[in-house]
Amino acid sequence: MTKRVWNFSAGPGVLPLEVLEEAQRNLLALPDAGMSVLEISHRSKWFDAILEETEQNLRQLLSIPPNYHVLFLQGGASLQFAMVPMNLLGDGSADYLVTGSWGEKAFQEANKLGKARLVWSGKEERYVRVPNPNELEIDPNARYVHFTSNETIQGVEFPSEPPVGEVPLVCDMSSNFLSRPLDINRYALIYAGAQKNAGPAGVTIVILREDLLERVPENLPNMLDYRVQAKNRSVYNTPPVFAIYMVMLVTRWLMNTIGGLEAIYKINREKASLLYEAIDQSEGFYRGHAHPEYRSLMNVTWRLPSEELEKEFLQEAQSHDLYELKGHRSVGGCRASIYNAMPIEGVHALREFMLDFAHRKG
Ligand code: PMP
Repeated sequence: MTKRVWNFSAGPGVLPLEVLEEAQRNLLALPDAGMSVLEISHRSKWFDAILEETEQNLRQLLSIPPNYHVLFLQGGASLQFAMVPMNLLGDGSADYLVTGSWGEKAFQEANKLGKARLVWSGKEERYVRVPNPNELEIDPNARYVHFTSNETIQGVEFPSEPPVGEVPLVCDMSSNFLSRPLDINRYALIYAGAQKNAGPAGVTIVILREDLLERVPENLPNMLDYRVQAKNRSVYNTPPVFAIYMVMLVTRWLMNTIGGLEAIYKINREKASLLYEAIDQSEGFYRGHAHPEYRSLMNVTWRLPSEELEKEFLQEAQSHDLYELKGHRSVGGCRASIYNAMPIEGVHALREFMLDFAHRKG
């Protein structure tokens, strides 16, 4: 096998090795089909079984109640920035909580399509935290409240759902989906691009409550209409067959090898604390971006004393097989994305390198 390095990419991100190996085995022929998963029809019984298992695995992992649809769509989370308001806004208004770059994009997109109200933004503070409940004045008549549970670029995560009363809660969960247990009943709609915790790029998972479909306007193009997608169980047109198959393997791994969301949550907390400890114990050499209470378990973001040292850090890291640690171009610094599939050994390797680098350069 070609050597694999520790991949801290923010997405597409690392996938479990055993999932890649299984996919490799089935790439030439699915055991009972005699055809590659890349070659089967989306109307075949083989794909039916894949789609059904993927949905059931998600339902089991997240305890999704029967009155929620699980959809597999294309266009990424970015298309959901538009589809959500197109389907749910009507002539009403929606409230947006913006805690980072992705939430800002979602808000701007909604604004093009209707009335969106910026209830809270962390922009002035450079997106280092989420709002306190007492900072939120939610419009009780809002069609929905939108928030981003984990801001991938800044590394800021909501420890729990913002309180929104009876207003339907919509969440972009792209970068912490399946990283911790969740009470789906608190949400009206959740969407997540698969390419961080759930699979490869190409499929976006949307979980939405049945009653929301009643407000979808009549004149939407079919592909952008949640009703059409739900009625056709994600096969209105050709879905991303291979990406869905990979989500099936990843959810299987999460259930059978890891043991579910409580188990992965425990591992994720442990991994994140290894890195945050290295930051906090560096006597100011490393400076974490987010306020400690809102630090992301998935994307750890920090700076070094100078851009020169950051460059040096990133270069040296590669010689230790530690890759993709450069922060997003909009914030600079470093970012380690430690999604579900990043083994704890990789996090230990990064931590050791961080401690050693700080020791030598600090
Ligand atoms: N929301 C969040 C939180 C993200 O991290 C990303 C991608 N990094 C997006 C939205 C955009 O996703 P996509 O590229 O799938 O459109």
